[in-house]
Amino acid sequence: MALEQHQIDKLYSLMEILRNIDVGLVVIDKELKIQFWNDFMENHSGSASAEVKHQVITDLFTDVPNDWFRKKVDSVFLLQNKAFMIWEQRPYLFRFDNYRPVTGGAEFMYQNVTFIPLFAADGEVTHICMIVYDVTDTAVHKQGLQKANQELAVLSQTDGLTKLYNRAHWEDCLEREYKRWQRVKQRACLLMLDIDHFKSINDNYGHPVGDDVIRHLAQLIQHNAREIDVSGRYGGEEFAIILGDTSLQDAALLAERLRKAVEGSVVSSDGQSLKYTISLGIAALDVGVQSSQEWIACADKALYSSKENGRNRVSLYSPQS
Ligand code: GH3
Ligand code: MG
Ligand code: MG
Repeated sequence: MALEQHQIDKLYSLMEILRNIDVGLVVIDKELKIQFWNDFMENHSGSASAEVKHQVITDLFTDVPNDWFRKKVDSVFLLQNKAFMIWEQRPYLFRFDNYRPVTGGAEFMYQNVTFIPLFAADGEVTHICMIVYDVTDTAVHKQGLQKANQELAVLSQTDGLTKLYNRAHWEDCLEREYKRWQRVKQRACLLMLDIDHFKSINDNYGHPVGDDVIRHLAQLIQHNAREIDVSGRYGGEEFAIILGDTSLQDAALLAERLRKAVEGSVVSSDGQSLKYTISLGIAALDVGVQSSQEWIACADKALYSSKENGRNRVSLYSPQS
């Protein structure tokens, strides 16, 4: 049955629209040979429609993952249903450069792709049309938001002055460690430390110098603690370190090393040099400790006895003390 002129005209204008539409349109047959390739695809791939026509798509575009693509396409032919690819699963099907001014930071064009079955007159699916959407803007904004949220989460856990964990987050870690100990009874120690006569440092040298001393101590803590230890700023000039899988003897060694490191350092700040010391207290987790807060209280008692006994020393908590 021959088409009438007005039908042909309609078909041509329809083709013209499809050529110029701002999404990629690709039609392939069962052998994956390209039958239609619109201007969007020409412009972004640099391959003209005449060049790619009748070529097997996976031979021409090696970025298209062969097995995955074959499976996807087979399911559309077989089930006669649409299929989708979204950028979160696979950032793109065709690797095109990204030219967008706003999202210029993206290396490539992020794509969503819809696979549509095309039916012949007898109801059989003989071709598949792929619609390729440029979703670079959405992808870049969403990734930016995720990154900002991650940074915000880190920031909300960090003490501004020392960059150690802040008290709230550190206490969450302590609670986790306590619960872990309840489950698996793996030994752990808690070390608390406080700068000696810090008030007089502030009084004699000024608050900014006091801040530098706090920062100096935070650095020494980070330097002397192991990677698995969890250090936090507990209060003004008071710090706490969770020592996982550590015996009381090993915790005492670490505490003594830190005490000596502080005693042996000179802090230079605001054109002045000063020395300071710290007092430390350690409590091991054992059956007598009923909660994470009680664990803190035990370590704090040990710290208090270091202060009582002359400062610049390490004390171990014992239930009798
Ligand atoms: P002790 O040996 O008994 O610990 O004596 P201390 O002087 O250190 O006693 P205390 O813990 O009472 O004093 C802590 C002081 O730390 C009081 C507070 O003004 C000061 N402080 C708290 N936070 C900061 C801070 O962020 N920066 C500075 N520079 N000082 C702070
Ligand atoms: Mg103090
Ligand atoms: Mg204090």
